Amino acid sequence: MSKLKQECYFCGTTASKSKLLLDGLNAKICDRCIELGSGMIKDILKENQNKGSEDIRFEFDKTPKEIVHYLDQYIIGQFQAKKVLSVAIYNHYKRIEQQILEDEVEIEKSNILMIGNTGTGKTLLAKTVAKLLNVPFAIADATTFTQSGYVGEDIESIITRLLQNCNYNIPMAEKGIVFVDEIDKISRKGENVSITRDVSGEGVQQGLLKLLEGSEVLVPPNGGRKHPDQPMLKVNTKNILFICGGAFEGIEEIIGSRINKNTLGFKKKSSIDEKIEKNEILSQVNALDVKKYGIIPELLGRLPVVISLQPLDREALKRILLEPKNSIIKQYKKLFEFEKKQLEFEPEAIEFILDKAIEYELGARGLRSICEIIMTDIMYESPSLKNKKIIVTSKIVEQIFNSNQSIALSA
Ligand code: ADP
Repeated sequence: MSKLKQECYFCGTTASKSKLLLDGLNAKICDRCIELGSGMIKDILKENQNKGSEDIRFEFDKTPKEIVHYLDQYIIGQFQAKKVLSVAIYNHYKRIEQQILEDEVEIEKSNILMIGNTGTGKTLLAKTVAKLLNVPFAIADATTFTQSGYVGEDIESIITRLLQNCNYNIPMAEKGIVFVDEIDKISRKGENVSITRDVSGEGVQQGLLKLLEGSEVLVPPNGGRKHPDQPMLKVNTKNILFICGGAFEGIEEIIGSRINKNTLGFKKKSSIDEKIEKNEILSQVNALDVKKYGIIPELLGRLPVVISLQPLDREALKRILLEPKNSIIKQYKKLFEFEKKQLEFEPEAIEFILDKAIEYELGARGLRSICEIIMTDIMYESPSLKNKKIIVTSKIVEQIFNSNQSIALSA
């Protein structure tokens, strides 16, 4: 690093004329500029806050059926999950309206717990609902959090993320939706059937509880650990809807023993029977099972709506590939349209992609990785070709996949 001049790089004041010159990587800043900058930040934040308060009235005009209808455009299957979610969302935002009207009966907030294998659409459901309602949305991974005082991310950083996603408009953030993924991985040690984490997640669960039940939290505007001198923003989480999601691997056995089904019998049945029975059992999940799995009762009490998502079968995967408004195949077709080319997939090519997604047990998440492997080669070649129509045959797909899979799928 070159030697820095002994002056403020913002206003030019020399070291002798300032009380303090703070060193940066490539510059110095004096005490007056720091003070000025900090005042400007406060003004901007305040301005955004005021801007938001003009928009404090929240108009909610969707019926649960309309919510499901909207979700249907993007999410295949999972009807029961959509139905329960839409009623919960409807009640949540009606509750916010009611508070604004200062009616007498106060309805408690109903945060949501979603249980389902990875790649079954939990995040997609939460994200799509937030898009429909036009409210800020943030995703957090519960495993990255630590109890305050430990190394790792503060739980409040979820709220920082929400604020960042709505340009620090606090009243908007206070009506947002937060999706906390991998909630099962912070289960209480010793109680869950699949211990995937060494550290007990109980402290994190306690921290989450505070946010979920609704409290005023002070969050650093830029995330990270709190510093005593840092300006903080006050956010009330009372109306923020928390959707927690997790795979809860092995919970079928807990449900099974509760409803007296012999889950050990799985092994003797064909794998199809086994799957059907597991799905049926999963749809009967309740709070008691989740508690046994290791989620503390207080936190569960704040997650009264429990939704289970069904694993996706071949037919569902096929529909996911082709049908949603922004399905993977439609997205590639669009990319080719920009080039004034028509992209077509042979039905056998689609079947090959499905075969691989099932073989690698990657669910819907795998569809994109497999398509990426195949389409990268095609998109590399296509701009140099004169053809106006590109047909993706099963032969091409097989060839490309077999020569690239080890690199791409192990990444
Ligand atoms: P989860 O949160 O359950 O692990 P995601 O919602 O992140 O799963 O899903 C991963 C990807 O798989 C999504 O981006 C979406 O493209 C696709 N996907 C999963 N489930 C569905 C579904 N039911 N309908 C449409 N797409 C789906």
